[in-house]
Amino acid sequence: MTLRKKLMVAFLGILVLPMILVGLIGFVTIKIQMHQLNREYDSNYTFFSVINEPLQIMYQITEAPLEELRENGHNGSQKLKDMDYLADVNDTLRKRYSYLVVIKNKNPIFIGDKEDYSEHGEEILPAIGVSSYKAGTYIYVDEPLLVKHEDFTYLDGEDGVCLIVTRVSPIVNNIRISILAILITGIFALAVTALSVSAWLFRGILLPIDTLRKATREIGSGNLNYKVERNSTDEIGQLCDDFEEMRRHLKTQIDSKEQYEIDSREMISNISHDLKTPLTAIKGYAEGMLDGVAESPEKRQKYLKTIVARATDMTGLVDELSYYSKLDTNKLPYKFETVPANAYFSDCVEENALELEMKDFEISFESQIANDISVIMDCEQIRRVMNNLIGNAVKYRNEDIHGVLAVKLTDADDSVRISVIDNGIGISKEALPHIFDRFYRADKSRTAGRAGTGLGLAIVKKIVVEHGGRVFARSEIGKGTTISFTVKKGA
Ligand code: ADP
Repeated sequence: MTLRKKLMVAFLGILVLPMILVGLIGFVTIKIQMHQLNREYDSNYTFFSVINEPLQIMYQITEAPLEELRENGHNGSQKLKDMDYLADVNDTLRKRYSYLVVIKNKNPIFIGDKEDYSEHGEEILPAIGVSSYKAGTYIYVDEPLLVKHEDFTYLDGEDGVCLIVTRVSPIVNNIRISILAILITGIFALAVTALSVSAWLFRGILLPIDTLRKATREIGSGNLNYKVERNSTDEIGQLCDDFEEMRRHLKTQIDSKEQYEIDSREMISNISHDLKTPLTAIKGYAEGMLDGVAESPEKRQKYLKTIVARATDMTGLVDELSYYSKLDTNKLPYKFETVPANAYFSDCVEENALELEMKDFEISFESQIANDISVIMDCEQIRRVMNNLIGNAVKYRNEDIHGVLAVKLTDADDSVRISVIDNGIGISKEALPHIFDRFYRADKSRTAGRAGTGLGLAIVKKIVVEHGGRVFARSEIGKGTTISFTVKKGA
């Protein structure tokens, strides 16, 4: 549930639940009250009428027995002399906090509650005497009383009066209790709803925020392994997801920075080692010449050639380093052009053929694509790619067998795939996924003595990716390596 929905539900909960509870309790209380007072009024009187017109209730509860008496009074007053009948009516009235008094010719012939009447009778009679309002008269003698009366004439011509005296206090008390019960229920319901809604919101909002705060502090203090797990589907849950995403991103960045530093340190140590070897050789041969060890011109020639070869190795290393740094900082602008693929790559092979043959290496070119297919590329950079791949094939040759290298062109939909296949020492399964990483040099024991920076294939990958192509490698230890890359076809 979203936060917005949660807040809406909370609002409605606080509003509606207490209302329902108060309504329910009010209804039940009134039902009980009405039942106690007068069954006939169950359906007529509601919670609202009790609040609105409590006096009406007092008036109404005796109305039915009075109506009956009234009818009997008008249809001949015989019944109003029948003491059993009057006692019956009085029994009904007693249940409604009332009693009956029947007066014939100013003499009471029936008194429903003698005790009360002897106490209040003297006040009641004059009160009704002055009252012209027959519906009822309120009088106050020790306690409030409602007196209703009905005049009639007996068959013998004598005046008769029926009085119904209702004690107001117990009824008012009952109503007071009802209202109090409703009020207490209302407050209780409000408190319970507010508490449960607050607890629900606390669990849904504050707890996740607390988790986030904790995570923020952990990450702030450098613990990037502190995971944030979402435990809701609302906006805070999404915030947790975003936070986790940010943490992972930061961790990857820091990890790769750390890896970069490790790689750089390793590279510096590799480079120092790779530079030290030819420098020691150059120094040794130069000192030899100075000391006159190389007396014959042939020996001097041999010494000088070695010095030149070693210096060339060093130039290669330094060149690769500076090239990568330029690529890495995007300082090498690309000059894309459309060139025929077959012609370009067969030229590359041709250029290297002589040198490779001198190293007792066999190189061949094979194309499975039509001659008119061209590719879009920066010729200079792709030449660098080819030189690095061919250079590696030679560098990592298997000294025990005749070196063979093939450059193969195949069709790959909108691209041309160029594969450089050798029969060299191969790359282990563990090393294979890393060979395109910068500064990575695989299988140190097997590649020992082969100068390198671990940048050759990183340069290849960077150039190919900048061309919108892909690069991949397949290799088997002892059998050889195939490194392929794609370049987009031209129009
Ligand atoms: P390096 O300067 O070490 O040659 P590269 O980036 O060119 O760096 O190559 C990375 C690693 O991949 C090398 O150290 C080597 O172990 C392995 N490798 C690359 N090409 C070949 C190949 N043709 N045959 C065997 N191993 C290779």
